[in-house]
Amino acid sequence: MTSMRAGRALVDEHWVDGTILPGFCDSHVHLALVDAAELMPGGIARVIDLGWDPAVARRWPASAGSGGLGIDIAGAILTSPGGYPGSSGWAPSEAAREIRTALEAESAIADIRAIGGRVAKIALNSTAGPVWGDDLLETVVSAAHRAGLPVVAHAEGTGQAARALIAGVDALAHTPWTEHLDDGLLRSMAERMSWISTIDIHGYGSGGPDFERAIGNLERFAAAGGRVHYGTDLGNGPLPTGLNHRELAALTAALPSAETVIESLAGFLALPSAPRTASFIPGPAYDGSTGLVDWLCTGSVVPITHLEETPA
Ligand SMILES: [Zn+2]
Repeated sequence: MTSMRAGRALVDEHWVDGTILPGFCDSHVHLALVDAAELMPGGIARVIDLGWDPAVARRWPASAGSGGLGIDIAGAILTSPGGYPGSSGWAPSEAAREIRTALEAESAIADIRAIGGRVAKIALNSTAGPVWGDDLLETVVSAAHRAGLPVVAHAEGTGQAARALIAGVDALAHTPWTEHLDDGLLRSMAERMSWISTIDIHGYGSGGPDFERAIGNLERFAAAGGRVHYGTDLGNGPLPTGLNHRELAALTAALPSAETVIESLAGFLALPSAPRTASFIPGPAYDGSTGLVDWLCTGSVVPITHLEETPA
């Protein structure tokens, strides 16, 4: 069950009845590529930045202050020498950290912890450069796990999502879109990892083969019980800065229930401390019929101090 609660919010000095939900989280963003000030007014309470120059990103979690946008960071993306996203053009070179040895893996993981990172992001993109062999991949993943960090992988290219699973990766940063994954593999994935959705980066509303492959994989992964997190890869192309109606529509089409769509907004990482904000949807509770996306999109981010739960 979701953590929806009936309650009221203080809006413009008036109490408004509605539904209180955990603050909506976009579990895959690149904060430096967007105007972060637009996120909370757009309905997003928290974000997880999955890769940037750590010297810049380390300042973000504390920058929002009390009542501001919740920000978790991964720091640099760990990758093979010459691997993605080193020469991809969308990120500064400092956003990619090359790992050649177990010692370098330990040191990179220690650096993520040192900047307050709560997740390790790794690249397994065989379409844009070399990727680690199995041994080094497992070495990196286990170094992160020993340090208490979950691992999120960018898996792209034939077989890379399966390699991530075998290595013990906790989540995929994107619904796999470069290949059709068979049902047996999806069942194993559903047991052992979660996926961050990022469906709308394929076509931005106009569909296409990548969109079709991704949504087909997502639908079968979710049907097998796989946990899905709402995430947009914000900063990658023309996406709205805020709650993305099209991403939610794709999730609503692919996931088995309204509850699972709502749960996908709770975020890949648990909150590090008590929440300062929540999402509030004014008016009647969702009645389970149509219009889930429109209902969610009327939500706004409200400080906890401006909310009251209705006693059960
Ligand atoms: Zn990304």
